[in-house]
Amino acid sequence: YDMSGKIIETENVTVSFDGFKAINNLNFSMDVGELRVVIGPNGAGKTTFLDVITGKVQPTQGRVLFKGRNLRRLSEHQIALLGIGRKFQTPRVYLNLTVRENLQIACNRQKNVFSALFGRPSSAERNTVKGLLETIGLTIKADLAAALLSHGEKQRLEIGMLVAQSPDLLLVDEPVAGLTDEETENIGNLLLALAESHSILVIEHDMEFVRQIARKVTVLHEGSVLYEGSIEEVQNEPRVIEVYLGE
Ligand code: ADP
Repeated sequence: YDMSGKIIETENVTVSFDGFKAINNLNFSMDVGELRVVIGPNGAGKTTFLDVITGKVQPTQGRVLFKGRNLRRLSEHQIALLGIGRKFQTPRVYLNLTVRENLQIACNRQKNVFSALFGRPSSAERNTVKGLLETIGLTIKADLAAALLSHGEKQRLEIGMLVAQSPDLLLVDEPVAGLTDEETENIGNLLLALAESHSILVIEHDMEFVRQIARKVTVLHEGSVLYEGSIEEVQNEPRVIEVYLGE
């Protein structure tokens, strides 16, 4: 696809639940290779926005385009296979398996779990897992059960598992909720490193964290884009301050 183009676009997208518009005529686009943060007060439509990109909910009106392709009527599974990976708020790692085994499984989504774990990994796969362990900073914990990781380390492992599936677009939902300052900074550095080679869309509340990672911020309000700009512009925009204070 066109590397200078848009990775994701929504055109006049509306999502109604019994007549209530959780997303209201939303026009959004992100360039290939961009790291974008989406913020907005509770109920702004952030979760529904991710749901409509991943095919969990269908737009009532409008279109969603991924790399220029209309996602209309595709299932969540089909959309994931096209190259959209979503990280949910709570980590979904296999607690009884080691960090390395979790990554091996993620590299082998199409195989069954047993062959992923007990089959002889190719040297390419071993290298991939080694590289992922370094990227997520868990090389020294590779042979520990995931249950023994801190909450922040589990978040990093899950991001590594997502990256193992080579998505073109990473959707990351509130990755630092409940993390310590140090873990928050680690996640920020990881996302910045991944942004060198991925398009990433992050939903986040923690403004300190947004300041660490964001180049461009989109503010959602009542299901539409209220404002877009740098973090400095966003923090000085009277309309943004108003909707947050009105919460
Ligand atoms: P955010 O993630 O920004 O807090 P959401 O996308 O979760 O916002 O929700 C936006 C609005 O849509 C909220 O008012 C919420 O109550 C409503 N909403 C979300 N999902 C549903 C649903 N399945 N049925 C009815 N209303 C919903």
